[in-house]
Amino acid sequence: METIEKLTKTLRSHGMKITPQRLMIFKVLENNTSHPSAEDVYKRVKKVYPAVSFTTIYKTLETLRKLGEIREFAIDDDRKHYDPNTEIHHHAICSACKKILDVFEDFSPHVKLPDFIEKDYTVSGFQISFFVTCKECN
Ligand SMILES: [Zn+2]
Ligand SMILES: [Zn+2]
Repeated sequence: METIEKLTKTLRSHGMKITPQRLMIFKVLENNTSHPSAEDVYKRVKKVYPAVSFTTIYKTLETLRKLGEIREFAIDDDRKHYDPNTEIHHHAICSACKKILDVFEDFSPHVKLPDFIEKDYTVSGFQISFFVTCKECN
């Protein structure tokens, strides 16, 4: 994600009004490594702006995702998580407490692609999710 200042400019150029609620969403996301869901962001913003609607949060997150400012990924069926770090990286997810950690190793030397992919497709990247039990949960 860009800095809040740049982000504000980018979004304005896409016709989005920068409301205090939206600014608060950006602040929640900035340098956030906890991979929050829309619900998590909603809870944080609601503390400061009790009248904010979930729809506003969700739509803003989706706009940021479409603009490539944040990435989205799913660890289970019921929840999408957002990641303001759009650089290629992997994740370790605790199956018990659902904590999500960033993993910045380059695994490409260890990954052997299946033949049918090598043959017919161009691969632009891959992402690994490790399912783990963290120290606190063990
Ligand atoms: Zn855990
Ligand atoms: Zn991440």
